Amino acid sequence: MIATFYGAVREVTGSMHMLSVNNDNILLDCGMFQGRRRESALKNQNFPIDPKIVTNMVLSHAHIDHSGRIPLLVKNGFNGRVICTRTTTDACEHLLLDSAHIQESDSGYLNYKTLRSHLFNLKDSKKTGLTNNEKGKISQLLKKGRHKLDIQTIQSMMKDYNLDIVEPLYSYEDTINALSYFDGYPYNTPVTIGKEMIITQFDAGHILGSAMSLISFTENNKKYNVLYTGDIGRYDSPVIKNPTMNFPKDTENIDLMIMESTYGARHHGLIDDLKERMKTVINETVENKGSVLIPSFAFGRTQDVVYVLHELYNKGEVPRIPIYVDSPLGNKMTKVYAEHPEVYDKATHKTFLEHGENPFSFKEIEYTESVEDSMRIMKEKTPHIIISSSGMCEAGRILHHLRYKIHNPKNAILIVGFMAQHTLGRRIVDLSQEFEEAGRKGEPPQVKMLGKSYPLLAKVEKMNGFSAHADQEEMTTFLKKSNLNIKKIAVVHGEEEQSLEFARHLNENGFDAMVPTVGEEIKILK
Ligand SMILES: [Zn+2]
Repeated sequence: MIATFYGAVREVTGSMHMLSVNNDNILLDCGMFQGRRRESALKNQNFPIDPKIVTNMVLSHAHIDHSGRIPLLVKNGFNGRVICTRTTTDACEHLLLDSAHIQESDSGYLNYKTLRSHLFNLKDSKKTGLTNNEKGKISQLLKKGRHKLDIQTIQSMMKDYNLDIVEPLYSYEDTINALSYFDGYPYNTPVTIGKEMIITQFDAGHILGSAMSLISFTENNKKYNVLYTGDIGRYDSPVIKNPTMNFPKDTENIDLMIMESTYGARHHGLIDDLKERMKTVINETVENKGSVLIPSFAFGRTQDVVYVLHELYNKGEVPRIPIYVDSPLGNKMTKVYAEHPEVYDKATHKTFLEHGENPFSFKEIEYTESVEDSMRIMKEKTPHIIISSSGMCEAGRILHHLRYKIHNPKNAILIVGFMAQHTLGRRIVDLSQEFEEAGRKGEPPQVKMLGKSYPLLAKVEKMNGFSAHADQEEMTTFLKKSNLNIKKIAVVHGEEEQSLEFARHLNENGFDAMVPTVGEEIKILK
């Protein structure tokens, strides 16, 4: 058996590995690279293998950094099945179509910019410089209404001028086609994926539908087990179950484990502290007659936050002010959650389902869809809570809510997710920290968004406990307390220093761990 590591190798995005056994090639995840725009665009376009050689694909969970290139895989000739859980199938339908929409609008915008500067140069043949009015007229030619790009006109004009058209990584149609290759199964169900090769998926506790994939096969009359963890969740997270610890007896000897290491060198706070802190922030803000704004990822974090708020409301620990979930994608993802109570943990069944309650629906919560509704709640004067995306404040409705709330010291911005470097979310966290450390004295920091500067006076509260990834200690507990005997561990899905530190920690604790490099092959023979 050969395992090759293609993506999320010494980094956190672009998950993709391949198992080659007998004549079968099984792809583990097919994720999108994210981060610096140009660099990731190149990595996403260049597929390191020919998709036609892949027998079947195994998808650990719906997050785009694990699933985002499946439409490209299918477009380039993959003809097998995408094996995952049923919940992942449902979640991918929304997440991949949303991704296609982003690909299309990104490439549309790049084409618009190329054509516009070409037209500016044509009109300004004497290089005297165009007036803003002249530039505005040219830009408007390429738009429908004030903001929407006229894609058809742009493409046909670019052809006329012989300009290079940037194609989207994949289109809406490519994605609809790719979704028909998905094949969802319940957890703990063996499925044949190759010659004498079976996969069983177990709950990974990372996000609704996330799975660890146990692949068992026979090669040269010898039996092997490979476990791909995907992303591993925390113990006692809201709604979803804990990561699986007990695996079937006949599969407990693992020849190779491919394991994530996002927080391989870090330690999180306790989940219980989080409810307390959330309670304090809401109570203090409402007392000051302010509102709470929560930037949040549409899948997972939004539902976690709603769940915790519902609990706090039911226990009467915070005032029952209106809550708005203002994210069309978040609303779709909440429906996926609501449709899969079979994968909730016991606490969710006990707290809500046994009393006939839906954890995500209660009197004070409103899921807004239309732009008009979104604008209505922006202007609301009495205390309320808004949960909106994107999670790192890079795009979407959250920007407009920040515009209305960031300047007011009565309001609170609650940070519940990871804010990557170079994002607006990270800037807000860092600037606010500096301002607080200076005792809120002097000029408030300015935050630039949507073409304007806003003073950052709202309080920014950061909570780490919501993380969907186990930390070093939790991952080590998983390895030690599960019934698995593991021969070798390949550490992936972590920034280089996290992966290296985690491998070092594992080796110190009696495991045999290594960190592969991109494209590296590991051969395992018995
Ligand atoms: Zn994930």
